[in-house]
Amino acid sequence: MALLQIAEPGMSAAPHQHRLAVGIDLGTTNSLVATVKSGSAACIADEQGRVTLPSVVRYCEEARTETGYDALKAQKIDPLNTISSAKRLIGRTLADLKQDSHYLPYRFGSNERIIEMQTRQGAKTPIDVSAEILRALKTRAENALGGELTGAVITVPAYFDDAQRQATKDAARLAGLNVLRLLNEPTAAAIAYGLDNASEGTFVVYDLGGGTFDVSVLQLSKGLFEVKATGGNSALGGDDFDHRLFCHLLEQNKLSQLNEQDSQLLLSLARAAKEALTTDNSTTIQAALSDGRKVDSTITRQEFQNLTQHLVAKTIEPVKQALKDAGVTKAAIKGVIMVGGATRMPHVQQAVATYFGQTPLNNLNPDEVVALGAAMQANVLAGNKNDGEWLLLDVTPLSLGLETYGGLVEKIIPRNSTLPTARAQEFTTFKDGQTAMTIHVVQGERELVADCRSLAKFTLRGIPPMVAGAARIRVTFQVDADGLLSVSAREQSTGVQAQIEVKPSYGLDDETITRMLKESMANASDDMAARARAEAVVEAEGLTAAVKAALELDGDLLDENGLHAVQTAVAELENQMQTGSAEAIRAAVSALGHATDDFAAKRMNRNIQRALAGKNVEEL
Ligand code: AMP
Repeated sequence: MALLQIAEPGMSAAPHQHRLAVGIDLGTTNSLVATVKSGSAACIADEQGRVTLPSVVRYCEEARTETGYDALKAQKIDPLNTISSAKRLIGRTLADLKQDSHYLPYRFGSNERIIEMQTRQGAKTPIDVSAEILRALKTRAENALGGELTGAVITVPAYFDDAQRQATKDAARLAGLNVLRLLNEPTAAAIAYGLDNASEGTFVVYDLGGGTFDVSVLQLSKGLFEVKATGGNSALGGDDFDHRLFCHLLEQNKLSQLNEQDSQLLLSLARAAKEALTTDNSTTIQAALSDGRKVDSTITRQEFQNLTQHLVAKTIEPVKQALKDAGVTKAAIKGVIMVGGATRMPHVQQAVATYFGQTPLNNLNPDEVVALGAAMQANVLAGNKNDGEWLLLDVTPLSLGLETYGGLVEKIIPRNSTLPTARAQEFTTFKDGQTAMTIHVVQGERELVADCRSLAKFTLRGIPPMVAGAARIRVTFQVDADGLLSVSAREQSTGVQAQIEVKPSYGLDDETITRMLKESMANASDDMAARARAEAVVEAEGLTAAVKAALELDGDLLDENGLHAVQTAVAELENQMQTGSAEAIRAAVSALGHATDDFAAKRMNRNIQRALAGKNVEEL
């Protein structure tokens, strides 16, 4: 497969011209912006010298907004108008959130297909909230760098689906940023480490952030980074550790039914305690609730680790799966890169070290590493770096395909294909005179459409009427470097075409992906049987339709016995199509074939006679 050259055509900088480009790590809890200056990447701090910007937005009176620390502070007193963790919601629908929404203190709109939070400034979507965060980072960077930005590379979790990626791009556009590229977070981390350490070999990126867990297996060689496999859980992160500790505090202090304000207060104290326990052996949590009740708990590091060990263990399963998908053993892993603030927790470091039998790489700041890698990538894309461009390859998490006749899936792009990728396949019409064809794009590993996830449907019209099987329709699947899929269909003789860009209306979290993969493995043999049967039914439908049409035209060629034999064979085949196995259907197809041998010969004779009628020898 051709490798992707990262430098965009026409983007080479004129000598000595430096374009201002930044990398942005748009995180669940914190976001960062970084840039390359004098050849090295660094995060850009705010006026108070803080590099992180809490990913929190408060909608205040008089159309004013607060972003970052001010908003974070206000979360306790104004929870309904202060939105955090928008990254968990972006590109998803209310229906996707299910139980997740119950501990989010927002007033969600009632539309199931869109997430809207009612604030004093009206309904706000996660895209609006993310745009505010990006706008704040853009302003920070432009003030610090003294000019307008050419563009930004924005990172997203490797498992973000099309809708989530598209929504992130929309947020950037709203913020007035030119998106040079979306980049998977682990790939950005690998860039940061790859450059610094000039490493070669297979690496694992273990990224436990505030709201998401991603694991990627990367192959680094001669300046090429190839993502061999990805896995993770987009609903697991440092926030869950806070939440577990929060629940423990409720139990210990015999509290139930907290109001939103008190919940926020206790959650933020739980987070502070978790962070303190990274360095301290014990910590105390004290608070006075709005109704006068008191919280007073001391917790040791050991207790906290016992409470949350199951969450740490939950990260190891996707690690195993990613190694399996990449076809490597853990012994072959040269290094494990730790990314995300939550990897600071000692029991997380310990679990990773124990599993891989080696100390993980953590010499870069786990909070900054993604932003630094993104900045390095932005620097190349903006054309500031002409030597040794990187080549980046990411992969598709699940196979992409389309529905074919009989409810079967034809896989076009197999799972774990490196991006960008494009593949085309030819299809044809099933019915005589068919002038339209519906292209149903699906995602998943199963053989039947009913077991896969439907992504999009569109119709190609204007196919010239032809006999079944004569039209040549070329369907092309293309996944760009950002992971966005577009599908086009083109009828080859007329050039008519239709296409669609797939922006699925709902998100797909990692648990769903894992479940879909597990189901495909568990059901592999049943699926094969179902596929064989569906294929036999398709063949049988074609044959019965052809025989019935022939009987209508030329049935008079058969005597009573002959007609009865053909009709009985058709009835038997139709019966088997309803209930029979693939073998029984194939046997009935073959029996109908035999029963019509004589009829076919008679039709052939008649057709020849018709063709010869009225023609003399010279003409022939
Ligand atoms: P990120 O999404 O990478 O910014 O990670 C944020 C998560 O890291 C939050 O859950 C933080 O509470 C957590 N975190 C940051 N610092 C520490 C620390 N010293 N110990 C434990 N967790 C931390």
